[in-house]
Amino acid sequence: MGSVSFDTSVRYLAGVGEKRAETLANMGIYTIRDLLYHFPRAYQHRGNVRFVTEVEDGETASLIMTVASQPHTAMLKGRMTMTKFSAFDGTGKCNLTFFNQNYVSKIFTVGATFRFYGKVQRKGRAVSMASPSFEPYTEGIALPEFFPVYPLSGSLTQKYMGKIISSALSMLNEKEIEDILPEKLVKENHLPSLGWALNAIHNPMSYEHMEKARKRFVWEELYVFALAISLSKKKAKSGNAPVFNPSDMDRFYSVFPFSPTDAQHRVINEIEADMTDKKAIGMSRLVCGDVGSGKTMCAAAAMYMAVSNGYQAALMAPTEILATQHYNDLGVIFAKLDIRCELLCGSTPASKKKIVKKGLIDGSIDCVIGTHALLTGDVEFKNAALIVTDEQHRFGVMQRSALGDKTRGGHMLVMSATPIPRTLALIMYGDLSLSYIDQMPPGRKKVSTFLVDESYRERMNGFIEKQATEGRQVYIVCPAIEGEEDEGLVGFDYRPEDNRPKLKNATQYAEQLQKKLPAIRVALMHGKMKAAEKDKVMSAFAAGEIDVLVSTTVIEVGVNVPNATLMIVENAERFGLSQLHQLRGRVGRGQHKSWCILVSDAKGTEAKSRLEAMTETNDGLEIAKKDLAIRGPGDFIPDRNGSARQHGGVAFKAVSLCDNTADLEAAFGYAGEVLAQDPRLDREENQAAAKYVEEYFGSIRSSVN
Ligand code: ADP
Ligand code: MG
Repeated sequence: MGSVSFDTSVRYLAGVGEKRAETLANMGIYTIRDLLYHFPRAYQHRGNVRFVTEVEDGETASLIMTVASQPHTAMLKGRMTMTKFSAFDGTGKCNLTFFNQNYVSKIFTVGATFRFYGKVQRKGRAVSMASPSFEPYTEGIALPEFFPVYPLSGSLTQKYMGKIISSALSMLNEKEIEDILPEKLVKENHLPSLGWALNAIHNPMSYEHMEKARKRFVWEELYVFALAISLSKKKAKSGNAPVFNPSDMDRFYSVFPFSPTDAQHRVINEIEADMTDKKAIGMSRLVCGDVGSGKTMCAAAAMYMAVSNGYQAALMAPTEILATQHYNDLGVIFAKLDIRCELLCGSTPASKKKIVKKGLIDGSIDCVIGTHALLTGDVEFKNAALIVTDEQHRFGVMQRSALGDKTRGGHMLVMSATPIPRTLALIMYGDLSLSYIDQMPPGRKKVSTFLVDESYRERMNGFIEKQATEGRQVYIVCPAIEGEEDEGLVGFDYRPEDNRPKLKNATQYAEQLQKKLPAIRVALMHGKMKAAEKDKVMSAFAAGEIDVLVSTTVIEVGVNVPNATLMIVENAERFGLSQLHQLRGRVGRGQHKSWCILVSDAKGTEAKSRLEAMTETNDGLEIAKKDLAIRGPGDFIPDRNGSARQHGGVAFKAVSLCDNTADLEAAFGYAGEVLAQDPRLDREENQAAAKYVEEYFGSIRSSVN
């Protein structure tokens, strides 16, 4: 058997041909390292062996049973076949059925013993299992406790992923493993070796091993994050932004139909002070403001200041819908200020794109609003001096650096709807000045929030129907996309004894609700849909062509549908408080009274009190502070793609499990020490880390085209 290193292509593995390699590439897996860092999203706890007489209907469990009857295969409709036999353990008998797996009759010979794993059905005393997983069992030889469950794509199966990962693990030459962590960090935090951790995360022998391995990967992500941020701070410091003269702000305020709140006024003054400061090297400011606090006006003010000083400005939003919304809102304002503003997104027609690009180079366009299409190489400005990014969390901090390149170190304004508590912001974004818009525009109605359990279901459906028939619209958020994919699984942040409520999935939910309420227009949206499909559903919802939108958290980011008055979050216990607050912010945007209903059957008192905090306050910063105290900073750390923590079928991100601020702070400490010795990460021992930091930056650049 040959050996592989992290850099070896997955094509080198047996069973990975051109086609499979392509599917793997779609998931971002090119090399052995990519493959080995494709962590399980959960595990089947096959060590949970139960007796036939004790299993309950619907339970997912392992049964160790001996085959009692010769398997019999029958033909069904079409080309379907069904193979049946019975097996027993010391306590009772179970009927087993396999569909379209004729070959199993050769495997299951009478008298042979297997460990069967799957969902058990019980009707009275009759127990059965349909198409369970199975392994031969020999008394005295231990079988693995946990089976990894991987995020999949295309035609890939769990079995296949497990096989190629195991073979990669066995072929991996330990000497070729590049450890990115400094020795000191590993020692001081008692982390296992990388080789051990990789084996343990894919095939853990116990919960303790799982924990120990994941701790190492949390540190890896924290360390790379800290290095990347520290490096980008240095880069930002070399900026060279023009110093502005004060602008005629009375003129700016006069074109709005409302006056600024005190908070907006203060933040706009802070922005102006930054950009007119002769001693500073330019503005790098983060504006945190709750959903609806009026961040757009602050962005507009900054852009106005740039333009009235003879420079161009750009506003970048994470999605086309948001960019378009900004363009529609600000276009009106800018027109009154004689500012020429254009929209540039991926879907902008080529001919239009050409015109906008030309206008940006020759300076006839003052402002451009768009998505990351603005970052492409061929978008050039005559003299951009300000870039505003909205909804920072979706972008990831790394893009700041790519953006800075466009303005050759101009002013930078970042707007975040997830209020980051100041303590955390100082660690993570120490180079940014902070502004908080801590006040809502007048007349904003509080969204009434309730925490309910399953017993409320019927009344809630009635309420949904009532809202829809009154012409209002409803959002329903579920943690999973489809199927009973997560039943019986255990994972990094939960164990079976936690007794977690089952996951609601959006697909089934939408179907069932539509059946129950045939007169209501129900639609489905989730993260596995193509961006264009999602946009289509979202636009239809915004246009009022859909009454109830059942979705995963993809609606989280700032879409504005003022007619939506009810937000329902299923399995609310699965979400972070800040995320729930974001979701709640989707309603209460119009003149109608709005509600947020958190549905949870979680039994634990911690989960309950966490959720109750949501019913007690509408203040996002308060909630973020609670979240930080309870769950740690993990949820605040964006991953490479800039997305926050996701649940239900989405790849496991180790750092989302970082549960204490001290570790994050320490990671910055280690990064600082290393950079003090080796500012550009040139040294041999820092090469591995340098590569992944580069990838952090690089993946942003390459995802842009
Ligand atoms: P966000 O901070 O979520 O981006 P927006 O800037 O989109 O908030 O503002 C939310 C809504 O509040 C918009 O409809 C906007 O026109 C309105 N708004 C903003 N500032 C004020 C204000 N000072 N007085 C009244 N309405 C305001
Ligand atoms: Mg906004």
